[in-house]
Amino acid sequence: MTRLVIVGGGHAASQLAASLAEKRFPGQVALISDEVHLPYHRPPLSKTLIKDPEAVLPELRGAAFYEQAGIELRLGTRVQGIDRARKVLRLVAPDGPRELAYDHLVLATGAKARELPQAPVGTPGVHYLRTYDQAQALRDALAQARRIVVLGGGFIGLEIAATARQLGKEVTVFEAMPRLLARSVSPAVSDFLLATHRGAGVDIRLGTMVDGLQMAQGRATGVLVGGVSVPADVIIAGIGATPNVDLARDAGLACDDGIVVDATLATTDPDISAIGDCVAFPHPDWPQRLRLESVQNANDQAKALAARLCGEPQPYAAVPWFWSDQGEARLQITGLWRPGCESVLRPASRGNGFSVLHYEGTRLRAIESVNSPVDHMAARRLMQSGQSPDKAVVGDPARPIQAA
Ligand SMILES: Cc1cc2nc3c(=O)[nH]c(=O)nc-3n(C[C@H](O)[C@H](O)[C@H](O)COP(=O)(O)OP(=O)(O)OC[C@H]3O[C@@H](n4cnc5c(N)ncnc54)[C@H](O)[C@@H]3O)c2cc1C
Repeated sequence: MTRLVIVGGGHAASQLAASLAEKRFPGQVALISDEVHLPYHRPPLSKTLIKDPEAVLPELRGAAFYEQAGIELRLGTRVQGIDRARKVLRLVAPDGPRELAYDHLVLATGAKARELPQAPVGTPGVHYLRTYDQAQALRDALAQARRIVVLGGGFIGLEIAATARQLGKEVTVFEAMPRLLARSVSPAVSDFLLATHRGAGVDIRLGTMVDGLQMAQGRATGVLVGGVSVPADVIIAGIGATPNVDLARDAGLACDDGIVVDATLATTDPDISAIGDCVAFPHPDWPQRLRLESVQNANDQAKALAARLCGEPQPYAAVPWFWSDQGEARLQITGLWRPGCESVLRPASRGNGFSVLHYEGTRLRAIESVNSPVDHMAARRLMQSGQSPDKAVVGDPARPIQAA
């Protein structure tokens, strides 16, 4: 019987296990995660979990699901190496080193928070947010803190800033770029988010490089900016994430800002596939390989791979989408914004929300919405079916979004 081993305990790994079970995969499936928890939803970590003392692990699926599906779970177990010649994994398990054989291996190793050179994970006073355990540590620290400094105005940094502000903390965000989320969203959305955060009382300093951390007895007590000291009780480093590729690279698989896969999510070894935040994959709508960090991408790649492993191969070509909750602002993005598109602004029919639809010629390439879920979902459905609404209709909020 085929033995399929999934390395990873996140959205991609759990969805793959679920999709294989749904399709009645004719083999044994094992899921190995170095986290001690069942796979859980990561998005709530920066939104609700760090402010809720009652919060519990937001499991993706309960233990009973894996048991009933016959999936062998090995938690708290790290995959240390892949012996591709023997098709064997080297594990570091709670009860010591082990070996585990596979017929097909799936790497769903995700990403890790990028570390400040001066303050690796574990430095007192500095927090990173990628895992449930880190969220609990941050929640406890926030409860005792007054002055919070967030390094980086990216999605996670801004979500944490908004949550900390809701807790009544004094929050300062330092962002090196001249606008928020400069690589991910259009200027209209950056401007709206800047006004929203500042309106909520977050002190956002754009175009500002932090020179370094101030340390006292091994603990970070503030940051230095232009020679001036900014004291902080808690410093959060939200400076991006890097894909977990060490395992793949050490095994000789091609990696290039992610584990390189083809359109069917196979690595350069046909017996090894990879999915989720850790992969760099080709997409029919994009000239270079993409590496995305989103729940949609992890889930949809897992479903596409499950289909291939069950004998229904299909190239992965899902339209990417993403959301972020930043205080009162719910941001939704479908497609990938790129400079040079023609942008059409559409106010929401109610409230202060809006959407920006980005076109190349007559083709809709991306939609960004803030507090405008109805328009967003209408436009997303069109994009997913390869259609584009007429620009004149889009620009008139009295007319519903529909195909040209
Ligand atoms: C705080 C936060 C907020 C987010 N908010 C949003 C949001 O609002 N919307 C959205 O779309 N996305 C959001 N994301 C991104 C989303 O969570 C990720 O895209 C998603 O988790 C990717 O799933 P994955 O399974 O590929 O990787 P991960 O979830 O990172 O899982 C990888 C797993 O593999 C394990 N692992 C790695 N190496 C090994 C090894 N050698 N041996 C054993 N186990 C290993 C890791 O410990 C981890 O459990 C957020 C992420 C974070 C951290």
